[in-house]
Amino acid sequence: MRQVVILGGGAAGLAASVELSRRGLVSTIVERSPTLGGRSLDLACKGSPACVRCDACYPHDLRREASGSERVHVMLRAEVEEVRWTPEGAEVKVSTPDGMTILEAGAVILATGSTPFDPSADPRLHSQDCPDVLSSLDVERRLAAANRLTVPSTGRPPQEMAIVQCVGSRDVKRGAPYCSKACCKYAYKLGLRLRHLHPDLRLTFFFMDWRPLEDARKALEAWAAADSQVRLVRSRPAEVIPGERPTLRYATPRESVEEESFDIVMLSVGMVPCSANPRLAELFGIDVDALGHLRSDRERVLVAGTSGGPKDIRESVEEGTAAAGLAARILEAKD
Ligand code: SF4
Ligand code: SF4
Repeated sequence: MRQVVILGGGAAGLAASVELSRRGLVSTIVERSPTLGGRSLDLACKGSPACVRCDACYPHDLRREASGSERVHVMLRAEVEEVRWTPEGAEVKVSTPDGMTILEAGAVILATGSTPFDPSADPRLHSQDCPDVLSSLDVERRLAAANRLTVPSTGRPPQEMAIVQCVGSRDVKRGAPYCSKACCKYAYKLGLRLRHLHPDLRLTFFFMDWRPLEDARKALEAWAAADSQVRLVRSRPAEVIPGERPTLRYATPRESVEEESFDIVMLSVGMVPCSANPRLAELFGIDVDALGHLRSDRERVLVAGTSGGPKDIRESVEEGTAAAGLAARILEAKD
């Protein structure tokens, strides 16, 4: 069967399958986990109360469309075991709990995504031994599940919360010198949601600069100017000091060192290249760049979404759609 094989059923992979289906083309999504949707399934709607275009619902809509299309086939709990190139494309051998299948692909889209930075990898952050230090994903999951946030150690609503930007990104020492591009946006919109849900909450953002969002930075500054419960501190905290309440130690712009305690410290984690990238690159005969992201100059192998580098949900969807357009052209050219 002439089709496109898509590795990964997150935002980019779903967008690719939907675009191919709209063009009348067949695709098979090969997804390692038991569900489609990727990490977006853990994200909360940040409407506060009106939609703030956080795009967390976008992959859900795509999943619905892909699941309703007879041109989109899905293999879950599936792994690629082997790839054999032929003049017509690739034979992709896939293992599932039900056995082995060989998919004939006219083109392949690699949309396997990235991994959120695990803050326990940085012992200075004490995310393992301090219950009130939460990653942004922890906060998203809690909000998605309960539509409110409580202090893990007390069960009470938080009064003082710190949001620390650039955790696991823009960090040369950790081999992640890049900006993860999504965390300023989600942190700002999560902050809006939290302020809406908890009118007494005081929020302090710790940030170096508000990178991919020059317009939104103005919005952030306007918000902080208009809302006395929102404070901006231009600093990257050096460490969390565990205690009854987590304490941040940070250098101020005047170069003094301050310590300040909060009910919750949220770490806005960035994206790390997926550990499977080297194996995927070897299987498909493409490259991994110096930072660990997939790069392909092979005609029939396209890379989309965060497997090629940090992106937000909308950019991942756009790249998945664009990859589907290229794959369609490859298939048409080989007719
Ligand atoms: S999930 Fe985000 S984009 Fe969707 S309705 Fe909520 S705020 Fe809007
Ligand atoms: S998007 Fe913002 S928080 Fe994330 S790495 Fe870039 S500057 Fe830092």
